[in-house]
Amino acid sequence: MGMMIRIAHLYPDMLNLYGDRGNIIALTERMRARGIDVHTDAITMGKSFNADDYDILFIGGGQDFEQDVLLNDLKKGKDTQINKAIHNGTVMLAICGGYQMLGKYYKTYDGKMLEYIGALDFYTEGKKERMIGNYAYKTKEGIEVIGFENHSGRTYLRNGVEPLGKMIRGYGNNGRDSTEGVRFKNTFGTYSHGPVLPKNPQLADLLISKALENKYGKSDLSPLDDSLETKARKQVMRLYIK
Ligand code: GLN
Repeated sequence: MGMMIRIAHLYPDMLNLYGDRGNIIALTERMRARGIDVHTDAITMGKSFNADDYDILFIGGGQDFEQDVLLNDLKKGKDTQINKAIHNGTVMLAICGGYQMLGKYYKTYDGKMLEYIGALDFYTEGKKERMIGNYAYKTKEGIEVIGFENHSGRTYLRNGVEPLGKMIRGYGNNGRDSTEGVRFKNTFGTYSHGPVLPKNPQLADLLISKALENKYGKSDLSPLDDSLETKARKQVMRLYIK
């Protein structure tokens, strides 16, 4: 029997800033290239889902408006499922607005209070001045993640959660404490749009490995030809980062 990974793409039509869907494409292509089957379901507004049916959950970024509109839908059961998945160690990637939704709340720069699912202990407060630009950070494995950030929200981590990375350049979570994103079990939250995984094949493979370990107890990913990605990364590093 071949291997098969199931991905739930939450709100693909509402949260897809700067091509965040490209993360699904990168995961899919990198798995197919290794002979792993991939099946992705779009979990839109109004559609219920059971997180136990999936190996990877993905949620992209959006504007304050979409985040507000989705709040009601999130609280009709998706919140419980996402919470369960995060604490079970299911692989989850959440970008920007989607990342903010995993925390306690997001208070927008114009004073609107959005109470989120509180799966992880952090909160976000917006300011009028946005944090925009190419940026980079380093994970605990030493992966240098290159990304693009554009957010008004400043995120502050509290108990029991660690950042996904330490800033190399840019603002990250809040522009003050040199942290970026969140990491908890196999949940990865980050402000990186652009999308993040095509630019960072090592991070994509880390997520794939975790999903395979969860499901099959092992993961030996054969190397892929990443020479184009490596060239592009060098160029971005040279022009924008270092
Ligand atoms: N609306 C959120 C903010 O501005 C998230 C933006 C985004 O996903 N790019 O902080």
